[in-house]
Amino acid sequence: MKTPNQDIKPITTRINEKGNIEIGGCDLIELANIYSTPLYVFDEATIRSMTKAYKDAFKKYPKMMMMYAAKAFMTKAICKIMEQEGFGLDLCSGGEIYTAKTSGFDMSKTLFNGNNKSYEDICMAIDSGVGTFSVDNFFELALLDSIAASKNTTVQILLRITPGIECHTHEYIQTGHLDSKFGFDLTQIDSAIELLIDEYKNLKLVGLHAHTGSQIFEKQVYYDEVEVIFKEIRRIKDKYNIILTEVNLGGGLGIKYTEDDKPISVYEIADTIIDSIKINSEKYKIEEPYVFIEPGRSIIGTAGVTLYTAGSSKQVPNGRKYQAVDGGMSDNARPSLYQAKYTVEIANNPLSEEKEQVTIAGKHCESGDILAKDILLPVINEGDIICFYTTGAYGYSMSSNYNRVLKSAAVLVNNGNSDIILNRQTYEQLCESDVIPESIL
Ligand SMILES: *Cc1c(COP(=O)(O)O)cnc(C)c1O
Repeated sequence: MKTPNQDIKPITTRINEKGNIEIGGCDLIELANIYSTPLYVFDEATIRSMTKAYKDAFKKYPKMMMMYAAKAFMTKAICKIMEQEGFGLDLCSGGEIYTAKTSGFDMSKTLFNGNNKSYEDICMAIDSGVGTFSVDNFFELALLDSIAASKNTTVQILLRITPGIECHTHEYIQTGHLDSKFGFDLTQIDSAIELLIDEYKNLKLVGLHAHTGSQIFEKQVYYDEVEVIFKEIRRIKDKYNIILTEVNLGGGLGIKYTEDDKPISVYEIADTIIDSIKINSEKYKIEEPYVFIEPGRSIIGTAGVTLYTAGSSKQVPNGRKYQAVDGGMSDNARPSLYQAKYTVEIANNPLSEEKEQVTIAGKHCESGDILAKDILLPVINEGDIICFYTTGAYGYSMSSNYNRVLKSAAVLVNNGNSDIILNRQTYEQLCESDVIPESIL
């Protein structure tokens, strides 16, 4: 069965009577008029269709828990939706913990990740009731144990390991290969366990955690990951008589940004993981563990689009045509960070046959601020609303105030209704943290 991550557009996308693109029953031109641009638009139906697909696909394995990787896109409204969908949250900073906690999220269903958690982050996580810590390295084991001891508490932990699996994705978003900044190397696990047995009495090890990368298109990665982890669980049981009952496989399922991308469905991933669980728990003679997965991009990526207004344009003599928009690398860093490609349409003129090659440029003071290079689009006029698809994940979450540009607003659309989930930043908020010290006056 097909799932929304295999399509470029949100599931409710259509062209309405006016000839404009509509998502969630809302005309994108009207949204641009009401909320102004740049604007992130999120289709609630697509988000919930993905969360439901994950739940349905893993129904056959009841000892399963889905955790949404909040870093892909997080606001309090998204936390609410995840709570309603029965998802936990995978968090990786004090800011994400604060957002989850203040949204009213059940913190026992959260996992705290990260390769350099600070003293303050850890204190905040413990005080907020974060359910489990994924411990990344020896430094963190010592720090977490000492903080837990000082608070007279015991913390439940997973060890983040580097399973040594290469997935074929961009180098910057691979994480599970051996030369990675994340996690314990397989050869370091025993030292970690011995420290836990001998010294770190305030940490309770319950399982292993791995995450092999992002924007993954291959099933085999997940199959192999399960095997590597189950083999370790067996080895740890034999050597230390410690029975690990939890396995976290991370996230990473890919989405379709352009026609070149051929992501697999949630059902294919689920079947692969479940097969591997069944086969490898037999093979290594371990009891089937509780399994967690942490999808981020695949839950939210396809649901989100970004709207821009077309401004100036430049025809380089005998060269490219550049069309500038009112946003850029501040609201979407991915094209300049890792040459990410997108599918683009003109929201008020999606069907015109008269096309030309154009490069969509941002408004920032960087030549690298190009959102889409050499794409074929209907001829753009000033004031047209340009729609970038699949910007839901790692768009807003990687956004910046570069050039002191305000962060964009986000709306949630459903059944013809639109609601703000993120207000556009104001100039007052932009300067809120600025201080002019007496000493320079
Ligand atoms: C980023 C991350 C995820 C989510 O990855 P996606 O590719 O967005 O699904 C899950 N787990 C960990 C540990 C991560 O760092």
